[in-house]
Amino acid sequence: MSTNIRIQRVCQYCGTTFTAKTTTTAYCSHKCNSRAYKEKVKEKKIEKSNKETLEVKVKPIEVLKAKEFLTVKEVASLLNCSVRSAYYYIETGKIKAVNLGQRVTRVRRVDIDKLFESTEAQPEEKKEQHFELSECYTISETLEKFSISEKALYEVIKRNKIPKIKQGKFSYIPKSIIESVLS
Ligand SMILES: [Zn+2]
Repeated sequence: MSTNIRIQRVCQYCGTTFTAKTTTTAYCSHKCNSRAYKEKVKEKKIEKSNKETLEVKVKPIEVLKAKEFLTVKEVASLLNCSVRSAYYYIETGKIKAVNLGQRVTRVRRVDIDKLFESTEAQPEEKKEQHFELSECYTISETLEKFSISEKALYEVIKRNKIPKIKQGKFSYIPKSIIESVLS
């Protein structure tokens, strides 16, 4: 059966609407196709370079990992947070520390490891939670309700490991969770 179906698609490179012959055509023209390809190659190169940079940066961390007792500054670099935050975690008891004297606070590295053992278990629990779509906001509803930018919202979702429920082309976020985080 040959039908002359004209499919309207949006070019993934330049964003213009074009008439496609198949439902999988991604680009409006050969030009956009090759430009997109070139960009992908470039991105891969950047990614590779970033990875190499990270490996160089990671080495001092390896040294810290070998230490049994850490200073607060070392804790901060190991956790990739500020020294101030590290002190805050210690003060609030999130990180166990011993105060040996003024400015001599030491943290056992194993206690830092334990910290992750307990947080690693968390996403598992969250996975088991089930949310009805009626208990959720869409992304745009959330943006409107809390008047934040999309970028900020995704940052919040990522940082708080908020579950996203994908349904068709929409993503849903549980109302109760986003409300407790953003209110
Ligand atoms: Zn195009």
